[in-house]
Amino acid sequence: MNFHPTKSHSSAHLQNFIDNHLKNYAYERNYDYGDNNRENISCMSPYISHGVIQEKEIFKLSLKKYSFEIIEKFIQEVLWRSYWKGWLELRPILWKDYLKDLQDLENQKLNNSNYLKAISGNTSIECFNDWVIELKKNHYLHNHTRMWFASIWIFTLKLPWQLGAELFMKYLFDGDPASNTLGWRWVAGLQTIGKHYLASSSNINKYTNNKYRDIPLENHSSAITSDKSYSAEKFNVKNTQLNDVKEIIVFDNYLSVEEDKLCDLNLRKVYLIENDNTHRMIKLDEDVVKFKKDLLIDQANRLKDKNIDYEIIQIDKLKLLNNIQYAYYPTIGENLDFISNNNIENLKFVYRDMDLLAWPYCEKGFFNFKKNIPTVLKSI
Ligand SMILES: Cc1cc2nc3c(=O)[nH]c(=O)nc-3n(C[C@H](O)[C@H](O)[C@H](O)COP(=O)(O)OP(=O)(O)OC[C@H]3O[C@@H](n4cnc5c(N)ncnc54)[C@H](O)[C@@H]3O)c2cc1C
Repeated sequence: MNFHPTKSHSSAHLQNFIDNHLKNYAYERNYDYGDNNRENISCMSPYISHGVIQEKEIFKLSLKKYSFEIIEKFIQEVLWRSYWKGWLELRPILWKDYLKDLQDLENQKLNNSNYLKAISGNTSIECFNDWVIELKKNHYLHNHTRMWFASIWIFTLKLPWQLGAELFMKYLFDGDPASNTLGWRWVAGLQTIGKHYLASSSNINKYTNNKYRDIPLENHSSAITSDKSYSAEKFNVKNTQLNDVKEIIVFDNYLSVEEDKLCDLNLRKVYLIENDNTHRMIKLDEDVVKFKKDLLIDQANRLKDKNIDYEIIQIDKLKLLNNIQYAYYPTIGENLDFISNNNIENLKFVYRDMDLLAWPYCEKGFFNFKKNIPTVLKSI
């Protein structure tokens, strides 16, 4: 597994996946064959989460080769990210509550021996220990493994889900406030109330191709409960006056600006914002910070090729850009937190078309969202 931090690598990787493996995705995707055999899944998340490859590009290339019916499962999975993003956007308090919970749990990180054993891969559960090593080494885990990992963390090791989600954010190249926080909440049983995900030894055995047997797991735990519930706000946002955008601020969630329609209008200069660990509440592993930085540099090079002026600046210099009116919306997470915590109020946000299309359908469950997938696809 090698996640080169370039658009050219991600595009070539995507094309190879589409040409050679996409057809079997629906049947093969749940198997974790190990980190040297990942052809059954796309491994695109480090790129999609940074906007290097956009969903519409994936759909266009995939549907050029196969009909919707053949690759429906893959399209649905790609749209799970949009669904989680929209779901969180409509319930912004949840992210604030999560960060507050993390602060309250700070002591456990020093004193809870189960936690200390878990994060160093020193539990009595062999597969879990292997996954901790893999997470730290590759900065990626298979989706099924993320589910098993979270389930063991919560129900067997009896650790708070919030600290597990923080560990993932720290080490994953694709760490994403929506997919990660809501993925952990889903496993815990907080997303679909009362419905939690309990990993079983036989399921892990089957989907790791018999790598692990007789895993000592807790099989009878109840779902985690909470007295907080989150109702959806209305999403009523439109992009207007795009012709006026001559300079724009870009965060690390939309790193394919050179393909955006603003470049065909009046865009002349892009400010790429680097957010290293100085201002983050969840401190990222240095490899993750470097991955993000390299993706920014790759974006800068592509802007240069298109004769669009650019500057890479640190997030704490954002206030100095007070004459710049526009920014691509960074979505809920630490970049948006920086903007609101520092009272940067003059920015007008430009939204990705895909988000404007998908997020209004995120008020209810995924089943309802799924019904609207054909409408979303038609519009893009
Ligand atoms: C506890 C937990 C935490 C997670 N944390 C993150 C995270 O921080 N960042 C992140 O990008 N994904 C997260 N996921 C979702 C999912 O595990 C990854 O997106 C997926 O494993 C990425 O591998 P892939 O690109 O090979 O996926 P593929 O199976 O090839 O799927 C293609 C694309 O679909 C999207 N996708 C697939 N499954 C999901 C899903 N369950 N939720 C949302 N999007 C999905 C991703 O964009 C992915 O790249 C988490 C899942 C769980 C259960």
